[in-house]
Amino acid sequence: MNLLPFGKLPAHRPRKFVPEKINLGDWPQIAPLFGQLENRAQQINGAAALEQWLLDWSELNAALDEESSRRYIAMTCHTDNADVEKAYLHFVENVEPQIKPRQFALEKIYVAHPQREKLPKQRFQVFDRDVKNHVELFRPENVGLETEEAKLSQQYQKLIGAQTVNFRGEEKTLVQMGRYLEEPDRALRQDAWETVARRRLQDADKCEEIFDELINLRTQIARNAGFENYRDYAFRQKARFDYTPENCFQFHDAVEKEIVPAVREIQNDRKRQLKLEKLRPWDLAVDPQNRAPLKPFGEVGEMVSRTQKIFNHLDPELATNFRQMQDLKLLDLDNRKGKAPGGYQSTLSEARVPFIFMNAIGLQRDVETLLHEAGHAFHAQATRDEDLYAYRGAPIEFCEVASMSMELLGNEFLEEFYPAAEANRARKAHLEGIIGFFPWMAVVDAFQHWIYTHPGHTRAERKAAYLQLMDRFGGEVDYSGYEEMRAHSWHRQLHIFIHPFYYVEYGIAQLGALQVWANSKADKVKALGDYKKSLALGGSRPLPELFAAAGCKFQFDAATIRPLIELAGTELKKL
Ligand SMILES: [Zn+2]
Repeated sequence: MNLLPFGKLPAHRPRKFVPEKINLGDWPQIAPLFGQLENRAQQINGAAALEQWLLDWSELNAALDEESSRRYIAMTCHTDNADVEKAYLHFVENVEPQIKPRQFALEKIYVAHPQREKLPKQRFQVFDRDVKNHVELFRPENVGLETEEAKLSQQYQKLIGAQTVNFRGEEKTLVQMGRYLEEPDRALRQDAWETVARRRLQDADKCEEIFDELINLRTQIARNAGFENYRDYAFRQKARFDYTPENCFQFHDAVEKEIVPAVREIQNDRKRQLKLEKLRPWDLAVDPQNRAPLKPFGEVGEMVSRTQKIFNHLDPELATNFRQMQDLKLLDLDNRKGKAPGGYQSTLSEARVPFIFMNAIGLQRDVETLLHEAGHAFHAQATRDEDLYAYRGAPIEFCEVASMSMELLGNEFLEEFYPAAEANRARKAHLEGIIGFFPWMAVVDAFQHWIYTHPGHTRAERKAAYLQLMDRFGGEVDYSGYEEMRAHSWHRQLHIFIHPFYYVEYGIAQLGALQVWANSKADKVKALGDYKKSLALGGSRPLPELFAAAGCKFQFDAATIRPLIELAGTELKKL
């Protein structure tokens, strides 16, 4: 049974360690391979033999990763097929939990290995640093606490997922309510916004309770691992070796000084265009000229062929890569019954080819999503010849440079989709979105720094801290009459609950993407060349070197941000 859009794809390198005939969904067949690696490690003599051992381990990882991806892709493409669902759940419930401790055992063997010091330093620096870090942070007493943390995260998701409203006679999810905020009818928008905000406020106490428990657990996890607070633990756990909390504070300051004024200007502009006295929270998503949504294409085939033309303009190699994805059927982009929601890019790790999943319905957002995911796909294609599995993936701070740059670079050729005036309208909305994201990123990040470095704080103190940040990074939006809703608006930001401290990455990556874009304004060929070179490094170098290869500075200060915001401002004036 093959329900995947693509067929059996050949492995990029023939297997040497994993047998050709093996069922990678059957743990009893997989376990001996881990056993072999464990036993063989004892007899390794010399760096070359250790390197080969790492490559065999990489081969096993890639084979397991591809098996997992194939089952996940099949499941998301056919949510209504019971066999496909069963195959996916079997892997998640019976194989993955077995793999985890055996992977950790291999990591420990590697870190303690007498030959480790003899490996070529430059080549293994990042791998070595990351594995050692992972092993050092492990505490058996944290395993149970992490299970508790996962359960609380799930409770939060359940609470939020169950939130529905009755709006004008129909039951709607809060996600479905989002589209009313784009309606030209202002009274309708206000009604929709209030209905949603009131519903959220009903669960405010429950959110606070879950969050208090999460803070306690996380603080305990950090202390068990020998850290003073969870913030410092989280930085280590996320392998943030190349930036510090101090750098993040600098980033927040720079956003306040350089970006918040630009956001206020954009919002004042919106207020003028909408002919309003005051901008209210329900006035932020509607088109400021009350125009109908852009229609970039009719059917998905058109979206693909026009995106192909964009890449043809950009770079012959990227154009070939995107063409190859079509030839190998590595795209499943149309919205149809029985497909999971959302979009993602996945990689088949043995074939070393990318796959893109989307639910396109004919909006400008779809064009941006495809450009974004194609950027991730180009990243995967660029690392095809890297044999160390860990280096075929980069840290998230750089992965998103690959994808966000492609949105900006691709948007230069939106005339493939629109007449000039509409292309400019799409570019304007995109650039304003980028600028508008930074202040919220700063709030989410700075708030978490405050939370985890103020142990034992009360809910009232937390609220005050949040409101102070909302004032510092807020724009021209008038919330009067809705103060409680504003004070709890962080409850809907799931990262704060589920992925603590995971957010500043998007800000860092966006700074990289804006730099790639600025470079391409000056010299398109060089900027594209640097971009491709940096992608090919995968995760083999530390972040500052990845950024440098892409022609960017790895800095989040005012001096880096100012020229980027100036460029965005100049471009916006032309649109
Ligand atoms: Zn992405």
